[in-house]
Amino acid sequence: MTMTEPAAPAETRTAPAAGDVIAATCPICATDYSYPDGISTRERKICPNCGASGRSGSIVRHVCQAIYGEDKPLFSQQPRKSARVIGLSDGMVYAKPFGEYFNYTNTFYHKPPKLDIRDPEPDFCGIADVLINSEVFEHVIGDTQSAFDGTLKVLKPGGTMVFSVPFVNREGSEHYPGLTDYTPRTLDDGRTVVDLVFADGRRKTDESPKFHGGPGLTLELPMFSRKRMLDELTAAGFVDITIHDDNLPQHGIVWPPLSRMVTARAPQEPPRPARRGNLLSRMLGRG
Ligand SMILES: [Zn+2]
Repeated sequence: MTMTEPAAPAETRTAPAAGDVIAATCPICATDYSYPDGISTRERKICPNCGASGRSGSIVRHVCQAIYGEDKPLFSQQPRKSARVIGLSDGMVYAKPFGEYFNYTNTFYHKPPKLDIRDPEPDFCGIADVLINSEVFEHVIGDTQSAFDGTLKVLKPGGTMVFSVPFVNREGSEHYPGLTDYTPRTLDDGRTVVDLVFADGRRKTDESPKFHGGPGLTLELPMFSRKRMLDELTAAGFVDITIHDDNLPQHGIVWPPLSRMVTARAPQEPPRPARRGNLLSRMLGRG
């Protein structure tokens, strides 16, 4: 994928001294292995057995923490089929074992089982102990607040979201503020442009669009800042919002300077409408 992040500070790019290796245990398959010091593992297949990257390993650690309440590799645990886990286009390296360990559904935006996280179907509301939402929101067109709101709707009270998105510490620079739809179009000379439609009715063509890596033409959309991400999580009603800044080299998790994993929980009690009875009593002087 294209990481639209500032370059790493020089000190983190220093080549490791020859022979510097780190011993690690995979958070998914519990395999012991070693890898060279001084590399970021966020998107690198670092486990030689299951192919987990640092991000995949981190997701599985947080899911295990939410379900089992302890920091042990998934494959050291017993399956717990009572745990309802929902993924949004999860990667197979963890989707496959989750299917064996939990009551797990991997959902998709474009194919069944479908889940539009901005507007979840009633069948999906209030069902998940854990919802994994990793590297999805940078593809959400327009209002990302509704995507955080929808995530909260899918969780049970007290349920956990395990979240990641490419984000930067400075204020976000959204490529197309107000965008509601887009259509890629290939010109006679082979170049691809994108026709854009905005909420206020404006139409525009981007002659040099940036596409996300991977299959198909997926336009790079919002670039989150740390502040915008926290503001939108808070506005949705999440509690216990934690950005997991620490590297865990012993688990093969070594972050680049930015874009760490985030966990947040749905409140135990859903917000209730104002208690009209009490209000009426007070208005009548009986409260
Ligand atoms: Zn592994």
